Amino acid sequence: IRPVPVRVLDLLEEVREEFAKSFDGEILVEAPEDLYVLGDPDRLHQVMANLVSNALKAGARHVWLRAFDLGDKAVVRVEDDGEGIPEEHLPHLFERFYRVDKARDRERGGSGLGLAIVKAILEAHGGEVWVESQVGKGTAFSFSLPASGPPPPPR
Ligand code: ATP
Ligand code: MG
Repeated sequence: IRPVPVRVLDLLEEVREEFAKSFDGEILVEAPEDLYVLGDPDRLHQVMANLVSNALKAGARHVWLRAFDLGDKAVVRVEDDGEGIPEEHLPHLFERFYRVDKARDRERGGSGLGLAIVKAILEAHGGEVWVESQVGKGTAFSFSLPASGPPPPPR
């Protein structure tokens, strides 16, 4: 990876734009105007796209993309009101090829690699990723990344 300052609000809005076309539910974005992280823009886009596509596959009607400024780091949270994940699966979700319901998840498309890639990308950035979920309520994936100042002004 080649880390540069990435404006979190721009990242979240790009991903919303990308999915708005194929989704008739709602994607809401909320992030501080001046929050920047250090990261590879393409890899961070890949992380967000997998998390949002997972939310849509889980039947979400609403997806919330929120970011929080914690000083030396930022936390991004992707929350959905989809079907949720039974607790016994949560510790395994980031394993390669792990899927909650083999037949159903195969039908919905995907290889079960997305979250393993998400975790590898975030760890390569010095970040962490974790999940909370409740069956029938929804799921939230959160990740942290090192904060950065804004890019130097052009001259
Ligand atoms: P790929 O991402 O490789 O196309 P995938 O989406 O099946 O395939 P992962 O992104 O690794 O694989 O997700 C693993 C499994 O975790 C999914 O198959 C699904 O069962 C479950 N899962 C992930 N995100 C959610 C979510 N937001 N709500 C409900 N289940 C989820
Ligand atoms: Mg996926």
